[in-house]
Amino acid sequence: MKKFSFLKRMGRCLLVLAVLFALVGADAAPLAETAEAVTQSDIDALKDNADDLADQKSEIKSQLASLRDEKANILAKRVLLDQQIAVTEKEIANTEDQIAGYEALLAQTALELEENQKEEEERYELFCKRTRVMEENGTASYWAVLFNAEDFSDLLSRLADIQEVMDYDQGVLDSLREIRAEIEAKQAYQQQLKDDAEASKAALVAQKEDLDAQREEANALVVQLESNVAEYSEQLAQVEEEEEAIQKEIVEKTNQLAAEMGWNATAGGYIWPVTTSRRITSPYGPRNTGIPGASTNHKGVDIGGVGYTTNVLATKAGIVITSAYSSSYGNYVVVSHGKGNTTLYAHMSSRSVSEGDTVAQGDVLGVTGSTGVSSGPHLHYEITENGSRVNPLNYLPGYVQAW
Ligand SMILES: [Zn+2]
Repeated sequence: MKKFSFLKRMGRCLLVLAVLFALVGADAAPLAETAEAVTQSDIDALKDNADDLADQKSEIKSQLASLRDEKANILAKRVLLDQQIAVTEKEIANTEDQIAGYEALLAQTALELEENQKEEEERYELFCKRTRVMEENGTASYWAVLFNAEDFSDLLSRLADIQEVMDYDQGVLDSLREIRAEIEAKQAYQQQLKDDAEASKAALVAQKEDLDAQREEANALVVQLESNVAEYSEQLAQVEEEEEAIQKEIVEKTNQLAAEMGWNATAGGYIWPVTTSRRITSPYGPRNTGIPGASTNHKGVDIGGVGYTTNVLATKAGIVITSAYSSSYGNYVVVSHGKGNTTLYAHMSSRSVSEGDTVAQGDVLGVTGSTGVSSGPHLHYEITENGSRVNPLNYLPGYVQAW
């Protein structure tokens, strides 16, 4: 009887523990889920977007293929190459987001696994403790308990208690199996995430190689254009024409804006448009092309040493009057600072402002690049005062002559 009552007490005690356990178990699960915001569906959305980009790319490719006659279509080809480069840059950003997503999910899964493993250890410990208790009390076998029954009513009562204990033991075993299954499923998911992340990383390497090759091709095209001035005189004239039309439009727009706002300009007051380079690779003014009668007039300065990743800053506060792409300037932004006073930033990889935006001095307008008629990454920078271009070098203290 002593044994029995002890067992009964033990059984009750463990049952209480089991209930507590179930409560704790139910509480622990949602903790991990609220930790981070990234979900698998975020990554799936990125993948859908990547499919759209791939479609855009093949469309551009087929257009490029139809422009077989390079000589006649060098500018048109350059525009398409810029579009292709822009799509590749988007692809790279997308893949980087995917990788970041996988890494966030992996970190979350690792945390959850750690919790699950702790849980498993606890449940296993409980199971062992329970087994030990049974061994210590000589009740390791349910049959032994039954055989020790004093009479039939004792047997029935023992049977009921054993049922309780058996149910409890079954519960402990089930919870152990359950947590093991959860751990294994999570480990499989973790492996899947790792494989997907690896695949994305490999894709990223390939996309970056693609980007380099596309930039090289686009730049080589402009080298070809600029180094054969006589051969491409018509297309170069087209470039100059476009730049002049843009300049006319700029003056009109800034005058109109100034009239609307009663806004007059004060001369000067510009900062450098980039903070990391002081190298001027091409000055303002006439450029000797080496071919008589074919000298071109440079309307701004070229700032080199900027690569494809330098922020381009508004050199003076104002309002963005143009944020666009043109075959000559590529991605360019014009900021008006008052009547007849504007600054222009050209050949950028990307623009981060829109027409009508108010910008403070030093605000980021975009990122340097080599779009449009450009044979390598640089910032083409122009200043217009009183409706005419002036030499920006007057306003670029500490410049380094690199032409
Ligand atoms: Zn230039």
